[in-house]
Amino acid sequence: MILFPELAAAEAGKPAADRPALRFGEHALNYSELRAAAAATAARLGGAERVAVWATPGPQTAVAVVAALLAGIPAVPLNPRSGERELAHIVADSAPGLVLAAPGDTLPAALAALPRVDVPLTPAAGRRGVLAGDAASPEAPALVVYTSGTTGPPKGAVLPRRALAATLDAVAEAWQWTDADVLVHALPLFHVHGLVLGVLGPLRRGGAVRHLGSFDLGAVAGALADGGTMLFGVPTMYHRIAEALPGDPALAAALAGARLLVSGSAALPVRDHERITAATGRRVVERYGMTETLMLTSVRADGPVADRPGSVGTPLPGVGLRLVDEESGTELSAYDRASGGWLSGYDGEGVGEIQVRGPNLFSGYLNRPDATAAAFDGEWFRTGDMAVRDADGSVRIVGRRATDLIKSGGYKIGAGEIENVLLGHPGVREAAVTGEPDPDLGERVVAWIVPADPADPPGPAELADLVAAELAPHKRPRTVRCLDALPRNDMGKVMKRALGGG
Ligand code: ATP
Ligand code: MG
Repeated sequence: MILFPELAAAEAGKPAADRPALRFGEHALNYSELRAAAAATAARLGGAERVAVWATPGPQTAVAVVAALLAGIPAVPLNPRSGERELAHIVADSAPGLVLAAPGDTLPAALAALPRVDVPLTPAAGRRGVLAGDAASPEAPALVVYTSGTTGPPKGAVLPRRALAATLDAVAEAWQWTDADVLVHALPLFHVHGLVLGVLGPLRRGGAVRHLGSFDLGAVAGALADGGTMLFGVPTMYHRIAEALPGDPALAAALAGARLLVSGSAALPVRDHERITAATGRRVVERYGMTETLMLTSVRADGPVADRPGSVGTPLPGVGLRLVDEESGTELSAYDRASGGWLSGYDGEGVGEIQVRGPNLFSGYLNRPDATAAAFDGEWFRTGDMAVRDADGSVRIVGRRATDLIKSGGYKIGAGEIENVLLGHPGVREAAVTGEPDPDLGERVVAWIVPADPADPPGPAELADLVAAELAPHKRPRTVRCLDALPRNDMGKVMKRALGGG
């Protein structure tokens, strides 16, 4: 199965060869250079069953993953910021035959026992011919990506080639993504957001990606002003953009001129959506996905303006999606892939678990048949995310079943909507809501805030009154705790485990 038609065309010496493919800082590779570098690396992978990739935010990571895909050997991207323990777990679990790294990178002790292959960007001589990966079956594993570890130890999701192709083609349709697009990218490369969407996405389209190495507002503005057409980011990036916009007209102009701004990996607070739109006239398109399922829903690039902040849009082409009541197991609402519409009646109230099926799904967790079986109800994958369906047919995520659904006084309360209200208070910079055991209520709503001014934090009663007035009295936080910063992982996701929330 050919994942990258443009690379295959470059191999055959077609005009595509000269098109820019990757740019990381001063390193730029066109399609024929990328093919040559990846093929040279692919030739050195021997018969390894899997290969680890030391996934620094550099061009070698992209070349290494493309090399493994061309060779038909599953790649396991490693987070260079992981601690020794987590790396040791992933290495023991995935048992890679070798590790691919940029020349000069220092590898930690957990990888010391693995043979190392350095990835060249300019190989001495390219190798021609069809590589095994192009002939590999659609079900052949392409990547093993570990989940973010937000709710527990990371699990290795085995992603077959057809899942990569399906998800990239589906988002391309929703985002009108073409070979003319230049993606501006500043995300890490060890998760599906940065790697699958951010690197493999442009390559599958035949377009280009410019990676900035790290997130920097000036660099983002510069790259968008200099030919970048799309920006992919996580909410912490858009939050920093929203904060900076009032004092940064160059950034506002660059964002206003971009074709598409996309956010995902966690919920983008409504306030940040609104501030960005106010300053740039543009809306941020939100999409929802997971390591195990790749992309599930998105606001469309050509979507109605009715796609309000907080909506993650409608199911992507090919994705089957239903909302299932947690207690009764009844289907509250289901989306029909064939007709592209919602099927069953729905009162617009019920919160259900998002369950999904489709060619974009993983084939299972590595070495975890127990976890794989537990994650499925027949062919439906249980995402663990809870949502409602809006009147306009778009999906609104309430939060994760495990950490964001608070059962208090007989009510089910979603943490996300309370967080959005708290963030609307000028004295609140960041907010996270959890549930804690309570003798009367079962669980009690607890708000963790990072005050805008640590010397003058908003009072608990004031915040409780705000939530009661905007939402409902039973949703008001009973406890408010101030922190200097929220505990976040490398994707900027709040680690509610560390707050005692599940
Ligand atoms: P782990 O499974 O190890 O606990 P994780 O679930 O954070 O970690 P990922 O697969 O990287 O690992 O993240 C998927 C999750 O991210 C989804 O299940 C959902 O909770 C959240 N998510 C992704 N996009 C969005 C979005 N646009 N809005 C809200 N939540 C989102
Ligand atoms: Mg998860």
